[in-house]
Amino acid sequence: MDQSASKVPLYYHPDYERMTQTPGHPESPDRVTSILAALRKAAVPYDVRDPVEATAEDMLLVHDRKHVDLVRDFGLGFMDPDTFHYDYTYGLCLRALGGAIGAAKEAVTERRATFALPRPPGHHAGRDYNMGFCYINNVAIAARVLQRDFDDVKKVAIVDIDAHHGNGTNDIFYDDPSVLYISTHQWGIFPGTGHQGETGSGKGLGRTVNLPLIGGAGDPTFIQTYEEIIEPVLKGFSPDAILVSLGGDSHIMDPLTGLSLSTPGYLKLTGSLFEFARKNVSGRISYILEGGYHTRALGEVFAGSMNLVLPEPLPFKPIYQDTRESVPDAGRIREFREVQSAYWKI
Ligand SMILES: [Zn+2]
Repeated sequence: MDQSASKVPLYYHPDYERMTQTPGHPESPDRVTSILAALRKAAVPYDVRDPVEATAEDMLLVHDRKHVDLVRDFGLGFMDPDTFHYDYTYGLCLRALGGAIGAAKEAVTERRATFALPRPPGHHAGRDYNMGFCYINNVAIAARVLQRDFDDVKKVAIVDIDAHHGNGTNDIFYDDPSVLYISTHQWGIFPGTGHQGETGSGKGLGRTVNLPLIGGAGDPTFIQTYEEIIEPVLKGFSPDAILVSLGGDSHIMDPLTGLSLSTPGYLKLTGSLFEFARKNVSGRISYILEGGYHTRALGEVFAGSMNLVLPEPLPFKPIYQDTRESVPDAGRIREFREVQSAYWKI
């Protein structure tokens, strides 16, 4: 057996552990450090891939020139109340984006699951704006690079399971039928967008699938939403590749949010997406880090997810279980079904 096949490709660079936004800021280098520690602790075999720097040209696939120039030249200070900028931030963005692109491209060429740990994260950044710890939208640009560089990648699905709505990704592809954007997120928190009625516009109508969940949703609601909505929509769209915006902040331990997904619940989702990709997309799936602010839980989510894509997963015992009695939010899922059945066979 090819030894390399039994190690999970992980796009990582020491720069991903470099920037501290401001003292005490939740989007800290410890997030990536903790993922690496969890991988070592669980003994998940992985191969570090050294990401090349992306280019301004890559960024311009999604962002306008004025925004790219702003991120390059802003200097020292707050770009918005949550997002600080140093003179070296643009270089970190190029390296972060390089990791997301590298992981996405390897998933396509090698037909296997890959992971990337880019910091800064990206899903709140839109065509002409930064927001919420994000300057440049890594996953959106990676999707565009796949479409640019591979003749057999016409349609890309982005599945965003961060607790926050990925408003940047949503906006970038809102009228584009070639990129499906599916997001589960907590309703009523930052950034306030992502109502289930926001379904795309023009030719992209129906290709934006917003699934806002109520705080405390827990594993049963997530799993039923996956089975009844997400998987049938993915089947209907029939993507050529899947990118996952893997935020760890839907986790029950997360200090900023309240979606209450346990580690086994997370692994059910990331594992189901992997199985779907194996059966329907020739294994072309890449998981790209977004948020997640309980560092140990975030580590567990990544280590557990990477373990699941091994040819023979190791025994993996998560610390963070959900011990509450909870049932699926049937009303919410019925609403999703009503909205989505206008566009998909559900
Ligand atoms: Zn988030």
